[in-house]
Amino acid sequence: MMIRPLTTQRKLLLDTIREVGGHLDAKELYRRASEKDESISLATVYRNLRLFKEHGIIEERHLRRGCCCYEMRRSGEHQHLVCRGCGQVMEFESPLIGKLVAEVERKNGFSVDKVELCIEGYCRNCTEDKR
Ligand SMILES: [Zn+2]
Ligand SMILES: [Zn+2]
Repeated sequence: MMIRPLTTQRKLLLDTIREVGGHLDAKELYRRASEKDESISLATVYRNLRLFKEHGIIEERHLRRGCCCYEMRRSGEHQHLVCRGCGQVMEFESPLIGKLVAEVERKNGFSVDKVELCIEGYCRNCTEDKR
């Protein structure tokens, strides 16, 4: 799906989300984008994030204690591991999630259209640092 007009600032924001690999919040996106175009404002970032979300271009995730992060929308579900030590976000996929959804739907008569699983802990590097 495309947004018209795709202004220079919109393109810059989308390119930035893509380059970073997603999982960044509005303020971080603003910080990175304003390094390249200092005329961009935080209000513009918020407005465009809302627009991108409405057009299904990006997805909003609630990582790092419910804070809203954004990433490009793509096919296939994936979930997230968030390191409490260094803050990095890792992605994982598991066929068990599909099974869980099927079970939840069957047992609760509930139709699931979004699963957001955010697992917190420590990545390998941070676990080694603690030893
Ligand atoms: Zn870590
Ligand atoms: Zn992700």
